[in-house]
Amino acid sequence: MYYCPDCMRLREKDRCPICGRKTLMAPQPGDLCFLEEQDVLWAGMLEDVLNQAGIVHVTSSDREAGLAAKLGRIGETIRFYVPFERLPEARELADRLFHMPEEPEENGFTG
Ligand SMILES: [Zn+2]
Repeated sequence: MYYCPDCMRLREKDRCPICGRKTLMAPQPGDLCFLEEQDVLWAGMLEDVLNQAGIVHVTSSDREAGLAAKLGRIGETIRFYVPFERLPEARELADRLFHMPEEPEENGFTG
C-alpha cells in the first residue's frame, strides 16, 4: 500500500495514476487520506458521525480549496480527509451512512 501526498489518496502501486507521481511512500500515521466527497447536506451528517466516533477529520470545498469549508451552500461538495490510521474506521462509518444495505422488499400481495 502506498500513499500519494499530492492527491492524498492510497494507491496500490508506487506510482499515482492521477497525478503521475512516482516513488510513492508507504502511508504513515497522520497522513491525511481522502475519505468521501459529499454535498453539503450529507457532509453535515458525515461530520456528526465522525465527531461522535472521535475521528479527527479535515474538510475542503471544491470551490475554495485551502479555505475552511463553510457548510450550507447548496450544490457545493465537501471533501473529507482522515488520518491514515483511522481510515478503515471512517470508511466503515461512511459506508453505513451512504451505502446502506437494501432491505428485502416485502411481498405486496399478502391478500
Ligand atoms: Zn497523486
